[in-house]
Amino acid sequence: MSIRIWTVPTADAAAWAPYEEAYAVMDSRERQRLDRFGRATDRLRYLAVHHVYRSLLGRELGIHPAEVAFRRSCARCESPEHGRPVPYGPDGTTLSVSLSHSAAYAVVAIGDSPDVPVGVDIERVRPHMDWSRIPCVQGVRTTHGFEQWTRAEALVKAAGTGLEADPPRYTGHAFGPWRAALVPGSARDWYVRSIRSPEGYAASVASASADATVTVAQWRP
Ligand SMILES: [Zn+2]
Repeated sequence: MSIRIWTVPTADAAAWAPYEEAYAVMDSRERQRLDRFGRATDRLRYLAVHHVYRSLLGRELGIHPAEVAFRRSCARCESPEHGRPVPYGPDGTTLSVSLSHSAAYAVVAIGDSPDVPVGVDIERVRPHMDWSRIPCVQGVRTTHGFEQWTRAEALVKAAGTGLEADPPRYTGHAFGPWRAALVPGSARDWYVRSIRSPEGYAASVASASADATVTVAQWRP
């Protein structure tokens, strides 16, 4: 099991391709989502980030970005109508994927198998943070607080649950860089680690594999 991660400067993603070119690779669900954004800046960022997201998945699957298809997989009720997106290609090859963005960066994590979901989270470190709204963070509340927060978010994204429930609990076991955790609402064991992030940001990745190798690269067109 390996997890490939790219940090994506959203300004570079937006400058990469004209609107029409990026729009052309979106599917109907993504176009509906685009139409719902009230602010042009939000729409442009979504388009740019999802264009990069599709291009990375297309590269991994050996297909054009527009050919990447998604089914849904709900971790709670197993419905194929909603839940986390599971990308696949025309030959049936299926991956796992997770996307996060904060301020000037997005991060995309891609894993080898839909049976081993991944979750990724990035947060810009903000000096004046109201931690009372973030119950999963305890104790020290500086950059370390953001690292704790991204770990919890990555875990619930991998597990497909939600932070509205109780936060993940760490078992105290470590496997290399991975820390084992239990996520309320999920029967599986999960593993999380911090990843290299841009200056001023914290980021983490989680997976169901205790021995996944992780590579982190900066996205380039
Ligand atoms: Zn469901």
